[in-house]
Amino acid sequence: VPGRIEVITGPMFSGKSEELIRRLKRARIARQRVACFKPDIDLRYHRTAIASHSSQTHDATTVTTTQHLREELFPKLAEIEVVGIDEVQFFDEAIIALAVELVHLGKRVVMAGLDTTFAAEPFGPVPALMAIADEVTKLSAVCMTCGAPAIHTQRLGASQELVVVGAAGLYEARCRSHFHPWIDEN
Ligand code: ADP
Repeated sequence: VPGRIEVITGPMFSGKSEELIRRLKRARIARQRVACFKPDIDLRYHRTAIASHSSQTHDATTVTTTQHLREELFPKLAEIEVVGIDEVQFFDEAIIALAVELVHLGKRVVMAGLDTTFAAEPFGPVPALMAIADEVTKLSAVCMTCGAPAIHTQRLGASQELVVVGAAGLYEARCRSHFHPWIDEN
């Protein structure tokens, strides 16, 4: 596999995890060896797998930081052709240099993550990863108000915390017209 950086982005419920899982499964069908990681902030469904809202899963190692990911990956890197990372928005900025390092080692790096926060601001390292990627796939969800394509993640309920992951009913997808960057107390 020649080195390649792929970014899958969009709001919550746009199918990023589904698409990441689909690509990793296809790589394994092609007999490529895959290592998949996610940040330990994402406790939705599994500690040892990534999962989509549609309940598809793929084995993954949970790590706390980019350094931790590096320590888990590098001892076995010679045997790995494809590196998958889900919820990449929660990694520190060092993930950008790691992606560049891996691509120069000939690895295919497939990362999925939110491009914007629920305040509609660029999210962590994702905009920079999009800039250095070979390919960016920007997915849309379905607006829960009108059914149009949705590019935003609307925060529902009362908590002000940036990081509230996977809790059902706390977020929904919204189009530009029905999104607002304050919490919807419906
Ligand atoms: P992401 O990783 O982008 O949050 P997932 O891959 O986990 O997305 O989930 C995508 C799945 O979520 C869809 O296939 C569909 O079954 C479900 N879903 C629930 N709400 C929506 C919505 N508003 N728009 C699109 N898909 C939705």
